Amino acid sequence: MKKFYTIPIFIPEDACPHRCSYCNQYHITNKTLSPTPQEVVATVEQYLKTIPFQNEDIRVKIAFFGGSFTGLPWQKQEQYLQAVQPYIESQQVDSIQLSTRPDYIDETILRNLKQYHVSLIELGTPSMDPEVLWLAQRGHTVEDIRRSAQLITTHQFELGVQMMIGLPGDTAEKSFFTSLELIKLGGTHARIYPTLVIKGTLLERLYLAGKYTPLSLEEAVAWCVPIYKEFESHQVTILRIGLHPSEGLIHQTELVAGPFHVSFKELVLTEIWKERLLAEAKKQQGDTFQITVPREEINYAVGYQSSNRKWLEKRYKKVNFLISESD
Ligand code: SF4
Repeated sequence: MKKFYTIPIFIPEDACPHRCSYCNQYHITNKTLSPTPQEVVATVEQYLKTIPFQNEDIRVKIAFFGGSFTGLPWQKQEQYLQAVQPYIESQQVDSIQLSTRPDYIDETILRNLKQYHVSLIELGTPSMDPEVLWLAQRGHTVEDIRRSAQLITTHQFELGVQMMIGLPGDTAEKSFFTSLELIKLGGTHARIYPTLVIKGTLLERLYLAGKYTPLSLEEAVAWCVPIYKEFESHQVTILRIGLHPSEGLIHQTELVAGPFHVSFKELVLTEIWKERLLAEAKKQQGDTFQITVPREEINYAVGYQSSNRKWLEKRYKKVNFLISESD
């Protein structure tokens, strides 16, 4: 089985002159300055030391996260990309990916990225609903998302989509519609972010003024379930659900409100497994419930804090989760 390693390089908001209503990159990443190319090399070296290369099935990628990579002046983009080329040439790193905004994509940018072996471009695509985008003050349109996604797939990059749920004006139906549209546009990878109210954002002011109510944790999980299933059924790789739990989010020094949970993905997958277990339970009438689950899914099947197991144990005297190695 292949093992994947990601070397993350954070390029915070100096790459992005926008200020979407929910975003304050400083508060999320707790960094203000972009790294120098030398610092990028140092980070890559540091990560490479931790990767067990004796395993032949290892895949390593360098990922430029944070701001909008292609919003940087080309000279700076090129410095970063040049800095990591030796690792591609020596085959220590297999691919490069980056994240950016839909309105920072054009033919020239894509041609330039191609020559530096970028393989996956993740687009900020918070919603495919025009009103939600406008209220989020994204500064681009749904049409920009369509145009850039089409350019990316036409130039044979993999397309990553980063959608949000629970922005002002959003509904469960609109967010599900967004996932359907992003699949149609050819998304191969996805991130799903429940909207959080972060300090120093317009959303914080709206929240404090009583003009925005974030989703509850239960609502956020319930909205994510059909979206996750839809992506999964179209073989879209789900890279993340929920923001990375930074110190500021965990200790709530940067988080004002919203459905943050360190195990958000586990909560969503617990619900998805609960549906499967419910269907299975309809077939199992005796005192014992038994199900075979792939090893990598076992924690989700048993449920967050064993919630699914406890729920089954109310109905069955004996509950057995068996592990299958084949998947
Ligand atoms: S475009 Fe991205 S980085 Fe820039 S403000 Fe919006 S969410 Fe933040």
